[in-house]
Amino acid sequence: METLVCIDCGKTHSADVPIVACDCGGLLDLDFTPAFDRDAIASRKPTMWRYREALPIPESAKVSFDEGFTPLLPVKIGGREVLVKQEQLFQSGSYKDRGASVMISKAASMGVKSVVEDSSGNAGCAVAAYCARAGISCRIFVPADASVGKLAQIALYGAALTKVPGSREAAAAAVLDAAKEAFYASHCYNPYFFQGTKTFAYEVAEQLGWLAPDALVLPAGNGTLLLGAHLGFTELFRAGLVASMPRLIAVQAANCAPLAEAFASGAADVREISTKPTLAEGIAIAAPVRARQMLKAVRETGGEFLAVAEADIKTSLLAMARKGFYIEPTSAAVIAGTERFAAKAAPETRIVTAFTGHGLKATEKLSTLV
Ligand SMILES: *Cc1c(COP(=O)(O)O)cnc(C)c1O
Ligand SMILES: [Zn+2]
Repeated sequence: METLVCIDCGKTHSADVPIVACDCGGLLDLDFTPAFDRDAIASRKPTMWRYREALPIPESAKVSFDEGFTPLLPVKIGGREVLVKQEQLFQSGSYKDRGASVMISKAASMGVKSVVEDSSGNAGCAVAAYCARAGISCRIFVPADASVGKLAQIALYGAALTKVPGSREAAAAAVLDAAKEAFYASHCYNPYFFQGTKTFAYEVAEQLGWLAPDALVLPAGNGTLLLGAHLGFTELFRAGLVASMPRLIAVQAANCAPLAEAFASGAADVREISTKPTLAEGIAIAAPVRARQMLKAVRETGGEFLAVAEADIKTSLLAMARKGFYIEPTSAAVIAGTERFAAKAAPETRIVTAFTGHGLKATEKLSTLV
């Protein structure tokens, strides 16, 4: 049976009580030992649930749309071939469905009837979609200036919207208050979310014939995909299913880059920084709660943080669209980072990245680029 462990004081807590953090205020991770049966995996449906022995949810409790096992397609980026996982092809339009599927399955299995979450976009969409699937009532706290397309999507799934005036951080404070009465289905705090996003790594490894790529280029805002992928590859490496760990190349928008700054200065945590608006709204996180974990993971794999300029985000977005890939501006930031990394990496380096979110979610923003 899995338990929750405080990353600061090490205290363990039951995983069957809905708590947000340790009494000491520390974040919780899940202590859980995955198992892998390669033959059984290969015989199952192509969804992220084919790795069921590695997921802390009984098969009977899963809340699912048969998501995952997204294609891993070769795409020319920066003059060379990069493998791009098509994570825009999920039910709610982003890879956040991986996390929401596992986290809402856990909530449903505990008999939770209502959840709250704070998100300016895709995490809110994913949680609202899976709550609709599970028949759980859902309230999403959003900053008042969140994009209209994503707010419409959340509301149409039947979730209640609470608009919080002010910053993304103000919405986060308001939800912590509401979390006293409802289950806090947070994509940043709740470790079950990362148990879902780790399946990204499993799929990449399986699609490469049980190999790790040399480098994995991923977005870094709150790090839900970055930390999930790191967890997944760490588990595969420990289980002997891959022989190496990929270098993690983490991409931020230069206009909001607290992690890139901390990485460059050798710091273990982020400090308060000034930010400017960015096209990459999905990774514009000034104070990420899992900053220390992200910095540690990137350093341990011999990776780095890259901060990309607005002009490069726009150029990458247009370049991908001209190849038939309609992605969000936030996703384009990751591709701009991939292009920068690819330009300096040795030619034989096997690079994997992702299209994280669908362009149809960001029509208002994209129409200004035409
Ligand atoms: C959530 C998201 C990201 C990055 O996520 P973090 O968890 O903040 O690092 C990147 N792209 C899209 C489209 C997203 O929805
Ligand atoms: Zn603690």
